[in-house]
Amino acid sequence: MTTDLIAHLRTTVHGSVVTPDDPSWDQERLAWHLLVPQQPAAIVHVDGVEDIQAAVRAAGAFGVKVAAQPRGHGATADTATGTILLRFDRLRGIERRDDVVRVEPGVQWRELNAVLEGTGYTALPGSNGDTSVIGYSVGGGLSWFSRKYGQAAHQIRAIDLVDAEGNHRTVTADSDPDLFWAVRGGGGEFGIVTALELQLQAEEQVYGGRLIWPAEHGRELLRAFAAVSDDAPEELSVWAWLMNLPDVDLVPEPMRGRWWIAIDVAFLGDGDDAEKLLAPLYDVAAPAFGELAVVPLGQVGSIAQEPEDPMPAMGRIRLLNEFGGEAIDTLLDLMLDGPTPIAMIEVRRLGGAFARPRPGDGAAGVIEEPYLLLAGALAMAPGDADEIENAFHNLHTGMGRFLSDRVPPNLATVEPIEQLYPVETLERLRAIKRQVDPQDVIRGNHPVL
Ligand SMILES: Cc1cc2nc3c(=O)[nH]c(=O)nc-3n(C[C@H](O)[C@H](O)[C@H](O)COP(=O)(O)OP(=O)(O)OC[C@H]3O[C@@H](n4cnc5c(N)ncnc54)[C@H](O)[C@@H]3O)c2cc1C
Repeated sequence: MTTDLIAHLRTTVHGSVVTPDDPSWDQERLAWHLLVPQQPAAIVHVDGVEDIQAAVRAAGAFGVKVAAQPRGHGATADTATGTILLRFDRLRGIERRDDVVRVEPGVQWRELNAVLEGTGYTALPGSNGDTSVIGYSVGGGLSWFSRKYGQAAHQIRAIDLVDAEGNHRTVTADSDPDLFWAVRGGGGEFGIVTALELQLQAEEQVYGGRLIWPAEHGRELLRAFAAVSDDAPEELSVWAWLMNLPDVDLVPEPMRGRWWIAIDVAFLGDGDDAEKLLAPLYDVAAPAFGELAVVPLGQVGSIAQEPEDPMPAMGRIRLLNEFGGEAIDTLLDLMLDGPTPIAMIEVRRLGGAFARPRPGDGAAGVIEEPYLLLAGALAMAPGDADEIENAFHNLHTGMGRFLSDRVPPNLATVEPIEQLYPVETLERLRAIKRQVDPQDVIRGNHPVL
């Protein structure tokens, strides 16, 4: 059957069809998350909308699933096994008309940010320039600027997609209110998006960057971070990191083999105003490294200095109900007292428009919890993954009383779908999925059924 499917794809698709016989297969089938096992039936590098239609129709006819995977930053074990995996590296169109931009599915955030630089407008990018604009936006999209403007999914104004029957159509709030709601936060389960129209925001300048202190200042610094971020205007996003830098040549010599605290800043406005708001951080101690400056929009995806190349990375996220003195002490005790395979902890301040419902919002809804806790590690050797899983478990057990059960869909890894959406949202997503894709042909990273 797979042979027939591949032969069929080869005759109906204009782009390239990569299969297990190809010498490049083991490279091609990898997601950004190198540890996620991926054994698709075939990979299609689509040349245009017709190729997407052909792949979706083939999936329906041959009883397999079809999944969009532009970069695989959100890949899960559910995405790829036995599926036709679509890659969009050839579809990179970006068209701006005043305060609306239309992007194709291969466009990455670093490209869109660069195109918008100097226009006086911004979209709502996240921390990593390598992720695709569409993959990020359909899963919610937690942006540096979401405290002011909400999640990126809510900025979607129109969706062009190929539906489960292979029809290409435009979906808007007026044409298909339920489907329009579902795609804006429900992920890749409701159609293969061929273009999104996004509302842009008029913003002149981003001021920010990364400041780094030795971990000895951790308790005072994280208290100052919590105070600064609790009082911050919605224009200011501040994220705190605990970074456990390995003793390897790749790390600059003075930073090797110890813990550091980093504070990342993105402020929509003037540098002097930002520095005044951040003064309590400098009062703790002068940073050992880093300074803040105007950040060209094209560089916003680099503030957090996250890896962009594929990694054997493992991550575990929880939302935090609070991040006060007790939570800070608990976190530092758990992380700094003794060896751990966890390489970094990130605490992001949410709040503001994240938590504010607005009429017409999509399935991404609101995030009421004020902070997000992200733990990350690299599994470089066999056996590392088990040790890292234990460390994540211990972290969540230790921090248990401060954690919420919910995980934003974009950042979910192994959690069941019930943890990603409130009950009524998930019920509505499931009803819409059964209606628009009754054969369950289209597969996202987090299947709703
Ligand atoms: C280092 C790192 C940093 C991150 N930072 C942030 C952050 O700041 N904010 C945030 O919100 N998230 C963040 N994420 C999560 C990331 O944004 C999501 O995992 C995002 O979905 C990844 O985009 P991608 O292009 O790699 O998508 P993939 O993992 O390839 O796809 C993601 C999902 O989108 C669907 N999808 C993609 N394209 C289409 C399409 N054309 N049509 C239909 N469905 C589609 C897929 O089916 C899949 O379900 C981060 C992840 C990593 C690894």
